[in-house]
Amino acid sequence: MKLPILVYHRIISNEISIKDIPAVIRPYCLPGGRFAEHLDYLLNRGCKGISVSEVFGQKEFRVVGITFDDGWESDYIKAFPELEKRGFRATFYIVTGYVGRKNYMDWVQIKELKRKGMEIGSHSVTHPCLLDLDKDTILQEITQSKQVLEDHLGEPVESFGVPYAFVNRRIIETALKVGYETVCISNTWLADTAAVPKIYGRYGMRRGDSIETFKGIVERRPFELFKIAIKEEGKKCLKRLMGRQVWLAFREKLLSRRNS
Ligand SMILES: [Zn+2]
Repeated sequence: MKLPILVYHRIISNEISIKDIPAVIRPYCLPGGRFAEHLDYLLNRGCKGISVSEVFGQKEFRVVGITFDDGWESDYIKAFPELEKRGFRATFYIVTGYVGRKNYMDWVQIKELKRKGMEIGSHSVTHPCLLDLDKDTILQEITQSKQVLEDHLGEPVESFGVPYAFVNRRIIETALKVGYETVCISNTWLADTAAVPKIYGRYGMRRGDSIETFKGIVERRPFELFKIAIKEEGKKCLKRLMGRQVWLAFREKLLSRRNS
C-alpha cells in the first residue's frame, strides 16, 4: 500500500504578521487556522495522522503521515495541541544545533512531545545542504545529531529527515548505515508501506497551496499527484541547469520580490 506523508515547517499563530517573517521562509509558514482545517478534514474523512515510524507495514488505508521540519517553537505551541486534541501522531525533525535558539523548541518542549507519543527524528546538526559537504562532515551531521537527541531523550532516534530537497544515494546510505531505520526526503512520492530500505518521499505543505491540493494529496487523486510531480520535475530541471547555488539565489530573489 502507498500513503502520503505530509511535511509542514512553521505553523504560525494567526496574530503574527507574515511580513515579520523572512521572505525565504514565508512560503513554508502556515497559519494555525489552516493547519487545524487540514486536521479537521482528515478527521471528518475518518483519516488518522501517524508518525513516520508507523508507516512500515501499515495496513490501514485511511492514514496520513504527518511530519514537521526544523523544530520551530510555534509547532510545539500551535500544532502539537491540535494533533493531541484529535489523537493524531506525527514526527518532528529537529536540527540539534538550533535547539533553544529564538523561535526554536528547547529540550523541555522536545521531551514533552516525545512523552506524549510524538516521534522525534533528526534533521542534522546545522541544517546544511549535505551535497555540498565532504564525506566526514556528512557523517558528522548525521551521527552527531542522532547522538545528541538520544542523549537527551534516553531512547533510540530512528528517523532522519534530509535537510532541503538536495539528496543523493550516498547520503541516504550513510544515514541507514549509522542506524536510522527510516529516511525522509523531499521527493513527492507516496510512501510504500512495504519498501525496504525505508526511504519515504513527502509532500510539502506550502502557504500558497489551496485546500484542494491538500485534499488531492490526502485522497491520492492521480491527477493532483501527477500535477505536483510535473511541477517538481520542472523545478529539478531548473536546479540542474542553474546549479544549486544559482538556483538558491534566484529563488531568494523571486520570493522577496513576490512578498514585497
Ligand atoms: Zn529543514
